[in-house]
Amino acid sequence: MAHVRRPLVAGNWKMNGSKLALAELAKMAAGLADGALWRTIDLAVCPPAPYLYLASAASIGTRIAVGAQDCHAEASGAFTGDVSAEMIAESGCCYVIVGHSERRTLHAESNDIVRAKAAAALRAGVTPIICVGETRAERDAGKTLDVVGAQVAGSLPAGATGEGIVVAYEPVWAIGTGLTPTAGDVKAVHQFIRGELRKKLGSDGDAVRILYGGSVKPSNAAELMAIADVDGALVGGASLKAEDFLGIAAVYRTIAPSTYH
Ligand code: PEP
Repeated sequence: MAHVRRPLVAGNWKMNGSKLALAELAKMAAGLADGALWRTIDLAVCPPAPYLYLASAASIGTRIAVGAQDCHAEASGAFTGDVSAEMIAESGCCYVIVGHSERRTLHAESNDIVRAKAAAALRAGVTPIICVGETRAERDAGKTLDVVGAQVAGSLPAGATGEGIVVAYEPVWAIGTGLTPTAGDVKAVHQFIRGELRKKLGSDGDAVRILYGGSVKPSNAAELMAIADVDGALVGGASLKAEDFLGIAAVYRTIAPSTYH
């Protein structure tokens, strides 16, 4: 059976902005007045944890979903400062990013930790966006597929279904640098990830959305989003301004829905 993959454009605000940034969310919603495109793609923003509830409330009645940037693997307990997937669900979130390279690097998150967080998201009914990607040194050493393959194999939770998870390929060296891989390199890694997902999930691997992330902006989104097996974008810097974020999503106007729908 052919799988339908609905593109997802998700914004990761990281630790940026303030309560005032929620005005951007309102601007994004207002910019979605032309309904035709937005019925065929999904949009989400992932603000810092203290704003999740407010953002969720502001997103009601709009086509924008809200996601968190991280969660703890446990549902509750003595984990000062952490937030559980259940709390994220109660805050109105549909998604949670897990295993972002900044968490893997700055918080020493291993594949086992990322997998436990992704499992927590499934337990709470929230879709995990599981990030993978190689460093510059790993790419230069020709290890990209080994690294990404190990991350995919090690970070996918038991019980994952094709539609229940999202994978984001984010080369670490492309995040926040203005650099992107060539279209050919993106295609090769996304096709490789699709193959790994099929190995793990069987034909359901075809239903998993694989996002590209790393310096996506309105000017390069059309080329990147048109690549086979690129099912949307995870956007950092360019998701902070409604105009840029909508400019990225709008490239789907030029990509025939029949190619992804
Ligand atoms: C990210 O951090 O997930 C990201 C893709 O950042 P940027 O778009 O700024 O490179």
